[in-house]
Amino acid sequence: MEERLFQNRYLVDEGRPHIQINRAAVDSPQLRSLISICPAGCYTADEDGRVEIASDGCMECGTCRIVCQATGEIEWSYPRGGYGVLYKFG
Ligand code: SF4
Repeated sequence: MEERLFQNRYLVDEGRPHIQINRAAVDSPQLRSLISICPAGCYTADEDGRVEIASDGCMECGTCRIVCQATGEIEWSYPRGGYGVLYKFG
């Protein structure tokens, strides 16, 4: 899987992440689950255990959007035209 992910190319829209976390007092279990669910490993925990996202390698699969739909902790949109993931095999 990781070998194939390395074949993708990403054009990062600097300063305009297409996914952001809406901060609440405590991260929900749904948000924390993204650390293991995201296929690109975009979600990590900081030293305090709070969930962080680095959307640079996002594959735009939409999994995190669906998982956190009810909690509203994720602001998710497609990158602007020309930016984001470029799949080698379509
Ligand atoms: Fe990860 Fe998919 Fe969400 Fe991108 S859209 S951050 S690849 S779960």
